[in-house]
Amino acid sequence: MRRVSIFGATGSIGQNTIDLIGRDPDAYDVVALTGGQNITQLAEDARRLRADVAVTADEARLDELRAALAGTDVEAAAGAEAIAEAAARPADWVMSAIVGAAGLRPGLVALEQGATLALANKESLVTAGALIMDTAATSDGQILPVDSEHSAVFQGLVGEDMSAVERIIITASGGAFRDWALEDMAKATPEQASSHPNWNMGQRITIDSASMFNKALEVIETKEFFKCSHEMIEVLVHPESLVHALVGFNDGALMAHVGPPDMRHAIGYALHYPERRKLPVARLDLAKIGALHFRDPDLHRYPALRLAHEVLAMGGHAGAVFNAAKEVALDGFIDHRIGFLQMAEVVEEVLERLSGSQCLKNAEMTLDTVTETDHLARKTALEVIKEQNR
Ligand code: NAD
Ligand code: MG
Repeated sequence: MRRVSIFGATGSIGQNTIDLIGRDPDAYDVVALTGGQNITQLAEDARRLRADVAVTADEARLDELRAALAGTDVEAAAGAEAIAEAAARPADWVMSAIVGAAGLRPGLVALEQGATLALANKESLVTAGALIMDTAATSDGQILPVDSEHSAVFQGLVGEDMSAVERIIITASGGAFRDWALEDMAKATPEQASSHPNWNMGQRITIDSASMFNKALEVIETKEFFKCSHEMIEVLVHPESLVHALVGFNDGALMAHVGPPDMRHAIGYALHYPERRKLPVARLDLAKIGALHFRDPDLHRYPALRLAHEVLAMGGHAGAVFNAAKEVALDGFIDHRIGFLQMAEVVEEVLERLSGSQCLKNAEMTLDTVTETDHLARKTALEVIKEQNR
């Protein structure tokens, strides 16, 4: 039996992972499941999958989790320390699907104990790309991408030599506001930004899709994971969300990955890798679909994409600043403290203010240097929001 753990089990990716594992329960020995506020879901899944331990990120809700698990053998635990401890429990395959920078530490711990890390938490690579890739290289662990675009590129590279790759193209749906005028985007509400035309995802990534901060994170993720130059990475708006990515080779060939917008494909590929196994995803009828559309993104509407390339040019800890400032700006938008377009302004201002800071110049990258940078960027972002709103 394969020992598996799922971090962020109650979220969108976590639940899709549980759906796949739950279809073949005898094949898996579930070690740890973690969640946040959804104690009922966490306890229900932990009971059904007979997990060794269930952890909620919220320490205040430990008693509630204990009560929900009463009469079972499932251990209950709470807090960030307990999540890191759960990641240290030996497992063969670990899903990293916590949202935000909080996913970094459990991912590192899981790699250190030699697990295969199925990485949905793109923030890990954006915040600490060199650290997480080095940890994978020096431990017995390995990373497999779960973000649909990166899974698509990874699949396009099987049997290929990276030196023959000229470009990597990741697609973007354009999100909720792809056909909106800029002045309407300025007035957009969190509710409007929280519905995606093609994908069903957690609220934060859905809003990040509307602003293309998600695609900006993915550009950085591409650079860190595939170790290519950032000039090779292109973003293409593709409203149908069926072509997830394309790899361009030096003979002019473009290898495209086409599939339905269902995260169980990328999760299942990482779960069964290097094999391909039957997955419960829709089969596309291309004749019925008829046409696929592509266009260049308008950087004026999506400044996050420009910022991503600036971050990559800065290098080092700039990714940690970018991600942390983005998380704070997103909180501000969700809480109605700042407008939709103001998110990019806040992030740009934080990058500018911290561009000369010692944090960014730090040559060495450790969990401590990343955490320090993350905290400084969050503090600076809160100051910027306060000043901009004065
Ligand atoms: P979600 O909001 O649906 O779920 C997030 C999970 O993380 C939940 O289990 C929540 O309880 C937990 N969590 C939140 N804050 C936490 C904290 N501080 N500490 C510990 N746990 C915490 O998010 P999602 O859409 O499933 O996305 C998860 C990750 O996968 C993100 O990094 C996202 O960018 C990435 N991703 C998601 C999709 C998708 O289709 N949803 C696609 C590609 C990549
Ligand atoms: Mg993606």
